[in-house]
Amino acid sequence: MAEPTPFKSADPLDEIQANLADLDAAGLRRRRRIVTTPCAPDVHVADRPDPVLAFCSNDYLGLAAEPALIDTLARGGRHWGVGSGASHLVSGHYASHQALETRLAAFTGMDDALYFSTGYMANIGVMPALVGRGDAIFADKVNHASLVDGALLSRADFIRYPHCDLNALAARLAASSAPRKLIVTDSVFSMDGDLAPLPKLLALAEAHKAWLLVDDAHGFGVLGPQGRGSLAHFALRSKRLIYMGTLGKAAGVSGAFVAGERSLIEWLVNKSRSYIFTTGAPPLLADTLLTALDLIEHGDARRAHLAALIGHLKSGLRLKRWQLLPSDTPIQPVVIGDNHETLAVSRALEAEGLWVPAIRPPTVPRGAARLRITLSAAHSFAQVDRLVEALKRLEAQHP
Ligand SMILES: *Cc1c(COP(=O)(O)O)cnc(C)c1O
Repeated sequence: MAEPTPFKSADPLDEIQANLADLDAAGLRRRRRIVTTPCAPDVHVADRPDPVLAFCSNDYLGLAAEPALIDTLARGGRHWGVGSGASHLVSGHYASHQALETRLAAFTGMDDALYFSTGYMANIGVMPALVGRGDAIFADKVNHASLVDGALLSRADFIRYPHCDLNALAARLAASSAPRKLIVTDSVFSMDGDLAPLPKLLALAEAHKAWLLVDDAHGFGVLGPQGRGSLAHFALRSKRLIYMGTLGKAAGVSGAFVAGERSLIEWLVNKSRSYIFTTGAPPLLADTLLTALDLIEHGDARRAHLAALIGHLKSGLRLKRWQLLPSDTPIQPVVIGDNHETLAVSRALEAEGLWVPAIRPPTVPRGAARLRITLSAAHSFAQVDRLVEALKRLEAQHP
């Protein structure tokens, strides 16, 4: 539905305007809000005088505006300046980047790690470096868009399996004669909040001599001992594992990394186009991320508070018509179904000063539009209560 329909008009701009009108009519037009204060539960947006209580950031540990990180960033700027000046393979690889990679590898228990500018770039950089034409990628149907794009860029056969369906995956693996096989999955699914069955996925990868690429964007910093991520949560280790973590969510800053065997990382340095053909991230960000890793490692109190908030929301939010999906992570989606109703509820919440985004197709399947609630250690119990009460009241009123 969001795909442009060709030949609506001879003029390309007229056609775009007609397609935008279609998006409006389908309740699918996206608009950006202009935020004027730092990422926090209480934020100001440009078009309203009072603050809104936000349940939409992925700042799970409440680090995005943490003073210790701001201090490191300022110090880093005085030491390194602002820009890196070049790509990593030319002259843009600084001691702070190197120190961050060493620390990330140790923290996740992997041989080595490579720091990318964003998670999107990590995913589209890793997959084409590992597989190509004639190879096969096996992907969970609801994987993040960046994993889909990485698969398409690689030109390998793109074989999707129903969400977390291990039997279907096993059958597809068995039927494939591709010389190289790569299984890719989100660890915590970004629009559902559930966890992939990683131990069983790894067993399948080992049985079929496939790589298993785990995108831990929503697990790193949150799951596992000291927040070491989803592999640590399941105590998984294997030469077949490739771990991708992002640094703009729980870590509160920006960027991502891929960790794995030393020779694999060395290969990515040589072959990953989204690593090679882009300017290195500012070295001050790597300093800041080292401080963020300290806070994650010593962040048990933040994680305990976050877990308590999740439990509080789940026990309080007993819904009748709408469905709170089964999730133990900070991603707590409420499936409403219809695009317009979901949007109307999101707007009604907003009228009360509560910001919960409406997620619609194509981000989620048709008929499964939802409110995506995300919790952060920066929230309070009283704030979660406010959301729960508003949702219960709106469910009784709509439609
Ligand atoms: C956010 C996200 C990404 C992209 O990471 P960025 O650093 O924001 O580019 C990749 N995968 C998943 C599952 C995500 O949620």
